[in-house]
Amino acid sequence: MNDLQEQARRHLWLHFSRMGAYAEGAEVPVIVRGEGPHVWDAHGRRYLDGLSGLFTVQVGYGRPELARAAAAQAEDLAYFPLWGYAHPKAVELAARLASLAPGDIDRVFFTSGGSGSVESAWKLARQYFRAIGQPQRTKVISRMSAYHGTSMGALSITGIPALRNPFEPLVPGGSRAANTNRFRCSWCAEAPACTLACADDIETQILRAGPETVAAVFLEPVQNAGGAIMPAEGYFARVREICDRYGVLLVSDEVICAFGRLGTMFGCERMGFQPDIITCAKGLTSGYAPLGAMLASERLAAPFLEGTASFTHGFTFAGHPVSCAVALANLDVFDRDDVLGHVRRHEGELRARLEGLADLPIVGEVRGTGYFYGIELVRDQATRAGFTPEEREALVRGTLPAELAKAGLLCRADDRGGQPVVQLAPPLICGPEELDHMEQALRSALLAATRAHLP
Ligand code: PLP
Repeated sequence: MNDLQEQARRHLWLHFSRMGAYAEGAEVPVIVRGEGPHVWDAHGRRYLDGLSGLFTVQVGYGRPELARAAAAQAEDLAYFPLWGYAHPKAVELAARLASLAPGDIDRVFFTSGGSGSVESAWKLARQYFRAIGQPQRTKVISRMSAYHGTSMGALSITGIPALRNPFEPLVPGGSRAANTNRFRCSWCAEAPACTLACADDIETQILRAGPETVAAVFLEPVQNAGGAIMPAEGYFARVREICDRYGVLLVSDEVICAFGRLGTMFGCERMGFQPDIITCAKGLTSGYAPLGAMLASERLAAPFLEGTASFTHGFTFAGHPVSCAVALANLDVFDRDDVLGHVRRHEGELRARLEGLADLPIVGEVRGTGYFYGIELVRDQATRAGFTPEEREALVRGTLPAELAKAGLLCRADDRGGQPVVQLAPPLICGPEELDHMEQALRSALLAATRAHLP
């Protein structure tokens, strides 16, 4: 254990992590094992995984059928690229995803993860428009505080200044519209109903950029960064209308929202809209192997299916045979155990338990759907007053993670949307016992946060 700590400190570079604390001697948290919805750390402490790893482990840990699928495929054909060749599991998985995806989304381009899927969608949009004689359509519109990945293209779509700033100048052509956080909306936070001004802001951005230069709008069905920010009724219908009016593609970034997170196979189904492209990753394999995909409508694939044309894009490990075999086994678990039905049967209970926390004065809003929630914290429930940067820092990087871990719950405290939120995305197999644990752990952590940070 000490060896592992020492080696972790000396050699392992954690992502998005302040390494200084470890250099100064803080223990590197090491997770060693998982089973069902739980993980264990190197001290043998058990935690309920309230974030499914990173919105990924839909069917829980320790599934022998997924491990067996990986091992069998590695023995049969460990690797072959999709560059000019197919392999059976990629074919089977592409057909299965096409049959599950809504409308005419029938063409599957595999990637190795979420950023690759987003990057691929922007590149497809550009090359598609070039192929159909509209080469000036290169720009993209996304939403403020939205996270779409870290490669330079995906980062240029991401709307979080703190993540973008160190890497400027980014890929040109990205601009951002308002997000749908009604709790903090400058147009309708105080109005009796949402006015859809946030949807209209997408039209404003398209007009500002020059409609004939815009290729695509990238939106998550429910936006993660900022804390499960829900769209209002009618939002996506309005956005679809706007995109159609200006000939702009609508990309549903479902790296988090697909594969049951919202209680449906794809998030756009739950939100009732038809995108032109779906980007996904994470839950496709429940995290047992890395894989992503960009699913495109047949119309977008058409120019690349004739003559000498090709989509000049790819990745060595995209559609890896082992990952595709695991994804198929994962989708089998979804069918056999009715994972979507399970989420639909228990999502009401999850919501009720989280809403029950609103008696704590630090709870400003509970929002989300399916097994995907955010709890926004406030200094004052009546006025919705938020926290200062110093208070946010202490809450999000001090009190909350420490108290949640003490209560046996791993989940994320986040302030990338401006104010502190607790993000919850438990494995989709969680039932009443785990939901009860989650509620109790949240209550004790939020009570501690109330005592420490409210007057
Ligand atoms: N898009 C969304 C909506 C995401 O939430 C993420 C990651 O969390 C990404 C893209 C990037 O995915 P990855 O980390 O697999 O590159």
